[in-house]
Amino acid sequence: MIYIYLDGYEYNLGIFELIRSFFPNKELKNIEDLKEYSSGSLIYISIIELNNFIVFRCQFFLDNELISKNEENLEKIFIERNRDKAINIGVKKSIYRTLVEVSKTKHPWGVLTGIRPTKIVHELVEKNINTNDIQNILINQFLLDESKANLIMEIAKRQEKYIYPISRLKYSLYINIPFCPTKCTYCSFPTVPIKNYYHLVDSYINQLIYEIKTIKELMLLKEINTVYIGGGTPTSLPVKDLQMIIKEVYNCFGEDSIGELTVEAGRPDTINLDMIKMFKEMNVNRISINPQSMNDKTLKLIGRNHTSRDILNSYEMAKYNGIETINMDLILGLPGEGVKEINNTLKYMEELSPENITVHTLSLKNGSALKDNMHKYNFEKQRIVENMLDAASAFADRNEYYPYYLYRQKNTIGNFENIGYSKKDKECIYNISIMEEKESIIGAGVGATTKIYYPDENRLERTINFRSINEYLNRFNEIISKKRNISLG
Ligand code: SF4
Repeated sequence: MIYIYLDGYEYNLGIFELIRSFFPNKELKNIEDLKEYSSGSLIYISIIELNNFIVFRCQFFLDNELISKNEENLEKIFIERNRDKAINIGVKKSIYRTLVEVSKTKHPWGVLTGIRPTKIVHELVEKNINTNDIQNILINQFLLDESKANLIMEIAKRQEKYIYPISRLKYSLYINIPFCPTKCTYCSFPTVPIKNYYHLVDSYINQLIYEIKTIKELMLLKEINTVYIGGGTPTSLPVKDLQMIIKEVYNCFGEDSIGELTVEAGRPDTINLDMIKMFKEMNVNRISINPQSMNDKTLKLIGRNHTSRDILNSYEMAKYNGIETINMDLILGLPGEGVKEINNTLKYMEELSPENITVHTLSLKNGSALKDNMHKYNFEKQRIVENMLDAASAFADRNEYYPYYLYRQKNTIGNFENIGYSKKDKECIYNISIMEEKESIIGAGVGATTKIYYPDENRLERTINFRSINEYLNRFNEIISKKRNISLG
């Protein structure tokens, strides 16, 4: 247990997450009275206001003995306009530097705990801050490693042509299909094995189509940008059902108006020739076939019902039949996998050469079987995961893949990041849109999130559909009225 005491400052999630990133397995307890602490670890954070300065002080005590201490000073004159933000960064810097000394580990993302670090770069660019100053802010204010600062600046630059000029009329559509063939052990999405839900598939599709038609009415004066059909595994539906959904999308929004249509075909055990031919006939220009690993032992261990050979067959079938862009998702840090196994997976990627590769770091999410049973498996340490990320990055360089979006997840091994790589000009616009939040995304289907973006105020409003299929089916009027209320007009 680590006790946290704040003097002159309110406890917030960012502080909790920063401390948690140094001590992932310890319980953290925020105390309001120092009497609650008698022994063990205590992080004492205080803010002291002097005439011209604010002092941020962090002290780490072990059994009442001071082990480490850091102080950051800020001249008041520099923070008048953005006082809350500046204070938050000052507090985090003093905590970070204290904990680096205590734990003897540095974190490449410094004090950043948010999941979208590239957004910071876009915000600084929008304020006309030049490249050198942005790099300086990332390294000296947010304490990022130079390599991470350069990475997010490179990604933000690559995204610019897809984001700007910002238009309040533009939006993308996300359609959620919550069915999968089986449940993967690392998955915490609210998805269900389709074989237990066949009796609800027709009702689900009817309701989904009704929701899509309603969105069309609500967005009549807006301009559609991209469509993403995800889940779950949309291809676990029968071909005719998935085709019906795509046809409805075209009927509602106009095929020619949609710049990009992605369908996740994540599991190769759901892909067959009829499905691929339907994609081609319906002009689906991007699909995702996700191996996660090309090692059969691992695939079995994580509950995937297929082999690496199935992945190769699905990929070849899709390419042979003319699917334009294929993405492949990989996960680093799966149980039993080290650098050798990752290199084997990357060797296959080199041969296949898909247009997009998304490299994830394993996230042990609450609600996943892997997290519940983590004591049974062998996970690699932070340093090895770092080596795997380096191997993936070197592979990308060698094969002319460019990083084009990045996000961080909570509970990833070593607090690393997920990176989407792309061949030149093959970036997935929807992925940039969902990450950078500079346009509205309208979600349809169970658990789908709708985010309305107000560019003038740089602000988002959200509403989320029910996460259970039964609630989605039975409380549909509430979903529609929430969508109307969030002022889609
Ligand atoms: S295929 Fe994807 S959504 Fe389905 S259970 Fe596996 S990880 Fe979850």
